Amino acid sequence: MKKIVIANWKMYGDLAMAASLSQAVVREEKLHTAKVSVVLCPPASLLFSVASHIGGSGVKMGGQDCHIQPEGAYTGDISANMLKQAGCQYVIVGHSERRKFHNESSRQVCQKATRAIKTGLIPVICIGETEEERTEGKTKDILAEQIRESIPEEAFSNDFILAYEPVWAIGSGKTPTVDDIREIHTYIESFTAKRTGIDKSRISVLYGGSVKASNAREIMATDGVAGVLVGGASLKEDEFCRIIAAAG
Ligand code: PEP
Repeated sequence: MKKIVIANWKMYGDLAMAASLSQAVVREEKLHTAKVSVVLCPPASLLFSVASHIGGSGVKMGGQDCHIQPEGAYTGDISANMLKQAGCQYVIVGHSERRKFHNESSRQVCQKATRAIKTGLIPVICIGETEEERTEGKTKDILAEQIRESIPEEAFSNDFILAYEPVWAIGSGKTPTVDDIREIHTYIESFTAKRTGIDKSRISVLYGGSVKASNAREIMATDGVAGVLVGGASLKEDEFCRIIAAAG
């Protein structure tokens, strides 16, 4: 199975950066195309620019969020269809920054994932525990609840991706140990398989949270890790290209 490497640019970037980073990623992906699938998720304003640079290459594009409704009077939001028309094949839903700063519930994440699937996009559904929940020993309970509530029935017969992103690891430089990642990913796979009736081989669980060039290879080589979702390090050309190479 090819490893999946997804770049989440968050609210960073401009036209010059989008051009040079996309071009560098296209060059790097070509070297490792048999072993890695690369998806760039820029902010909405840079989608068309990134699309023009990745062109007919193997690099794919995704949005960072989409609205529950197909269209409507929702100022500042973006629909799944708009993302699709801009050239996206994926969309991240339920990122912890959306859950925290926009008060998104797992129920809303589920509706977003449903909209994405109905539009022909593959949702990348993010789940993960906070530092406090981890300290209290609630990690697996929280993940189980998020899986139960965030994965829509539409996903049972369509493609979707899960991203395990411990909130305390995002942008902090801290990561779980490889043993912890293996244990949690195995748990997520089994629980999702039981909950959805989907065969484990169809369930892809990415790891996200302070992935960088120096830890990417070890993380991606861990059992149960289908790839990585990368924030900060995906904005640095050389660093991100080394993460792509670590998958290949
Ligand atoms: C993210 O925002 O999805 C993420 C994983 O961020 P970082 O890699 O910066 O921790």
